[in-house]
Amino acid sequence: MKSKINIRLVGIAILAIIATVIGITIIYYGLFQKRIRVDLSVSAKLLKDTNYFESASVDIQKIDLTTDIDELRVTWIDADGTVLYDNDATTELLSNHLDRPEIKAAFEEGIGESVRKSDTMNKNTFYYAILLDNGTVLRVATDAQSLWSVFVSVAPIIALIILLIIAICVIISHMLTIQLLKPIEMMAENLDDADYESPYKELDPFSEKLRTQHMDILSAAKARQDFTANVSHELKTPLTAISGYAELLEGDMVANEKKKHFYHEIHKNSERLLALINDILRLSELEQKNHEPVFEEIDLYQMVEECVDELSVNAKQRGVGISFEGTSKVVRGNKEMLKELIENLTQNAIRYNNEGGKVSVSVNERDGRACLVVKDNGIGIPASEQQRIFERFYRVDKSRSKETGGTGLGLAIVKHIVELHDARIELDSAPGVGTTISVYF
Ligand code: ADP
Repeated sequence: MKSKINIRLVGIAILAIIATVIGITIIYYGLFQKRIRVDLSVSAKLLKDTNYFESASVDIQKIDLTTDIDELRVTWIDADGTVLYDNDATTELLSNHLDRPEIKAAFEEGIGESVRKSDTMNKNTFYYAILLDNGTVLRVATDAQSLWSVFVSVAPIIALIILLIIAICVIISHMLTIQLLKPIEMMAENLDDADYESPYKELDPFSEKLRTQHMDILSAAKARQDFTANVSHELKTPLTAISGYAELLEGDMVANEKKKHFYHEIHKNSERLLALINDILRLSELEQKNHEPVFEEIDLYQMVEECVDELSVNAKQRGVGISFEGTSKVVRGNKEMLKELIENLTQNAIRYNNEGGKVSVSVNERDGRACLVVKDNGIGIPASEQQRIFERFYRVDKSRSKETGGTGLGLAIVKHIVELHDARIELDSAPGVGTTISVYF
């Protein structure tokens, strides 16, 4: 970026110098030409005013208008175009001058002007001709540098100035880029500091976005780390139990009547491991952003009916009554996921209930939306915990959850499914009164 700014700045400087030099040379040359013309016309008029060339006694051989440096050429032309006198070349060598534009113009209009390329390279000759009262024409001429040669003559100086300016530009742009980029670098260094104000107001939205993204990345990394630690911990407990029981059995250190209990524990813990692994796999599946679930028209009521039917044995074992009610409501969703959602919520309502408690699942329409409500009169959730129960592995009563086969991931899965269906979940719960969870599709 720094070298880019350097190159651009130097480029702009060079362009500016070239444009200025061209502009100034053209303006200067215009003025220079005008000056030459005025000078020539003054000389011609002065010579005319002397009336020297009109006097009858003028002896051509005796005229001598040569100057030391030959800067002014004077030519006297007769009415028929023959050159009567020229202070530069001998008259015999000069051809008839009637065809010269300035002479022609002088004969016709009294004065004539023209500029022609000189024999010598890089020079222009300026002519000014004036008609004298006796019908002859007097012409004065001078050589001057052409525009190109003026340009060429200043070129070394221009090149020197360009080099000098490039050097200055490099230094300035170097300082400028440091000054410009320093605050941005500082901003990047202080990305973690929420109080750090970006030095450029224009960068506020950018820095804000960067900071949010940075925070998101950090918190995602932290969540991943926490999750890994939690998973390891959760898997370790049943595995340690299985390993311990198996070791005792292997060493024949268990009395026969106790063996059955040990086998049962091994079985229970393996089931727990399986349930945990299933839920972890399910969560990671749901989190895969590129995975698009298949959506179809599903009758929620019919699905509730099936789930309640499947879970009624479980409810009966725990002495909890279960019922369902409502009307047929068709929603667009993924069959497997919706089944999982209903099962998880209903399972929880059974699990965290008291003996003789009740669970009711209903499907209705509320505010023009299909609504699934799972209601229980169980142990309820304290207000302080209600925000956290959708977090992975968060349980209000850990031992109860484990004892009843909970993994601590059910509501995290539910939350994902709700999000994937653009639905909204509401929780209403009070300890000792019960819990109502509503999902609006
Ligand atoms: P778990 O597998 O432990 O049930 P969940 O993610 O499904 O995990 O639920 C998280 C926690 O929320 C549970 O451990 C429990 O403490 C609480 N919870 C969930 N549903 C209910 C309910 N209907 N009544 C009381 N507490 C509940």
